[in-house]
Amino acid sequence: MSSAVSDILEGFAGLFWPNVCACCSTGLTRGEEYICSHCMYELPVTNFHKDRDNPIAQVFWGRAPIEYATAGYFFRKGNRIQKLVHQVKYKGQKEMGAVLGREMGKSLRGSSFSEVDLIAPVPLHPQKFRKRGYNQSEWIAKGLAEALDKPVNTQALVRRFFTATQTRKKRFARWENVDSGFGLINPGTFAGQHILLIDDVITTGATLEACIHAVLSAPGSKVSVAALALASA
Ligand SMILES: [Zn+2]
Repeated sequence: MSSAVSDILEGFAGLFWPNVCACCSTGLTRGEEYICSHCMYELPVTNFHKDRDNPIAQVFWGRAPIEYATAGYFFRKGNRIQKLVHQVKYKGQKEMGAVLGREMGKSLRGSSFSEVDLIAPVPLHPQKFRKRGYNQSEWIAKGLAEALDKPVNTQALVRRFFTATQTRKKRFARWENVDSGFGLINPGTFAGQHILLIDDVITTGATLEACIHAVLSAPGSKVSVAALALASA
């Protein structure tokens, strides 16, 4: 393509998506998507995947049997990841979730995480999904799957119920609330597979713990966990 034509196309595309960095608002240059190269380079990486007994793995010790666990970035008040995740979750910037997932996925290439067979995002409450129109974890999963060259399954793992009963349950501890909230529609899909569960931000690990148990109800399945970010306490 001639540069004149591609400049026109780029200018045209600029009408439809923001051409400034979602972090620092400087203009993006060609090849940059949503986040400028400088901000991307400065993202607060954890490198947890290099240590099997990392803080995310420890979250699940004695709670759920997993193979590997990681979170790509540190989520702290006011930091770049907090800013970006906010836009991914609440400002409709789902594609940016895929960009971040892909960036995290690149760092997992050649690690233990490349052993997984299937990638599955934590499902959103159906009510939240209706309101938001998308599941941000699904978009993170898409980007990560692309980087690791693995398939994504968004159908098998589901939130089992979200009713007045659950609202009443809010009076009880949070883990009780979500504990039985997940199930597999077709356990055969996950049977004998190593599933990598994807979440956006991990805090207590309660949601993921419930998902892990749901996935492990598939015979012969194994689970690993990757959150985009770890929220510091
Ligand atoms: Zn920037």
